[in-house]
Amino acid sequence: MAEEKFYKYVIVGGGVSAGYAAREFGRHGVKPGELAIISKEAVAPYERPALSKAYLFPEGTARLPGFHVCVGSGGERLLPEWYAEKGIDLLLSTEIVKADLASKSLVSAAGTTFKYEVLIIATGSTVIKLTDFGVQGADANNIFYLREIDDADKLVAAIKDKKDGKAVIVGGGYIGLELGAALKVNNLDVTMVYPEPWCMPRLFTAEIAAFYEGYYANKGIKIIKGTVAVGFDSDASGNVTAVKLKDGRVLDADIVVVGVGGRPLTTLFKGQVEEEKNGIKTDGYFKTSVPDVYAVGDVATFPLKLYNELRRVEHVDHARKSAEQAVKAIKASEEGGSIETYDYLPYFYSRSFNLSWQFYGDNVGDTVLFGDNNPESSKPKFGTYWIKNGRVVGAFLEAGTPEENKAIAKVARIQPPVEDLEKLTKDGLAFASAL
Ligand SMILES: Cc1cc2nc3c(=O)[nH]c(=O)nc-3n(C[C@H](O)[C@H](O)[C@H](O)COP(=O)(O)OP(=O)(O)OC[C@H]3O[C@@H](n4cnc5c(N)ncnc54)[C@H](O)[C@@H]3O)c2cc1C
Repeated sequence: MAEEKFYKYVIVGGGVSAGYAAREFGRHGVKPGELAIISKEAVAPYERPALSKAYLFPEGTARLPGFHVCVGSGGERLLPEWYAEKGIDLLLSTEIVKADLASKSLVSAAGTTFKYEVLIIATGSTVIKLTDFGVQGADANNIFYLREIDDADKLVAAIKDKKDGKAVIVGGGYIGLELGAALKVNNLDVTMVYPEPWCMPRLFTAEIAAFYEGYYANKGIKIIKGTVAVGFDSDASGNVTAVKLKDGRVLDADIVVVGVGGRPLTTLFKGQVEEEKNGIKTDGYFKTSVPDVYAVGDVATFPLKLYNELRRVEHVDHARKSAEQAVKAIKASEEGGSIETYDYLPYFYSRSFNLSWQFYGDNVGDTVLFGDNNPESSKPKFGTYWIKNGRVVGAFLEAGTPEENKAIAKVARIQPPVEDLEKLTKDGLAFASAL
């Protein structure tokens, strides 16, 4: 007979949110056998951002168990033993293939049924693949995507195998920029290709992007903009040999990394729960439209109080905080209490080479650049403020100290008025530090 299991709480997904939710359950006290984390991945929750950074470095390499959650936010590292000690069932290599929210049950690929009282959906995102659009030759070997640790392991093996070879990065977003740098550090000959006029256009201004593109060029990375990959050549063994671009150019390639975006993994719940902006709609406690079902991290479309609108955020800081908020809300409601609604300040960051930037707030309105954004400088340091309706609503800083990053976060949170944009350019960081 098919197996059936019952848990008071089930978290489906075993990524960043799941790990931070588990820690929060642990803080509140969870009885043995009450909580299960069901994850497709074979390892306990880890800090996913490491996969595109130190995991790929030839020196100072990060490997598990080094980056299990919650080390990314300076917290305790939850090893598999931690879950065992707490009596939390970590059900790894277990994919949920069916969900029936009405009967409160999930079914795994192996046929086990999981019944629950409270469900937290933490399935995260999946990558968009070029094969999804039928791009010719896109199923060749050595064309990589990066989402889970298995993907990273395959890429690491290819980097070793194709020593000093040629790499083409398709996409100029987070993954493109971080992977371009990581492959260069591994001594590959790197070319980046993206259709937009500058990298990371969803966040960067042209001036910010010009700095990073200049810096990458100085490192020997070739950047081709305004065109896309339309096909791939491969050899008799099926290994990729070249990337064909829409503008007619053909780039030799031993390794291709594609970073063209993600898609929240909500398919299991389609038609059973209210959706908004491609995600599962929640309130400020991450409760969905279905009783006892919560959604956190990349899949949640939640009220962003500060801007009075619903948003979905695909960043690690929100994954951590939304998970904690949901567990606090679950626990409070069990005790007949209540907590404040989620009040999130958007925070994104990235690191590559010796560079490191942080952004807080909203990137809307006019912009003001300050500091030294010359990629040739020995110590470039610069930032940008976004100003809407006479107030600073967003702030970006490259090479900030922890105190300076705190100061720009404060700016984005309190949204101070600003009258003289030219003065803001000159004052730069002093404006933030004086608040
Ligand atoms: C390579 C990479 C680098 C990144 N770098 C940064 C960065 O520098 N800064 C930043 O802010 N953000 C970064 N992000 C984004 C950040 O990692 C995500 O926003 C965050 O991981 C989202 O957390 P989550 O828990 O919602 O989803 P995930 O961490 O993706 O976890 C989802 C989990 O659910 C599992 N799952 C999915 N479907 C099922 C199923 N049906 N059954 C069982 N399990 C399932 C998955 O296998 C996975 O383990 C990066 C992402 C990637 C991929």
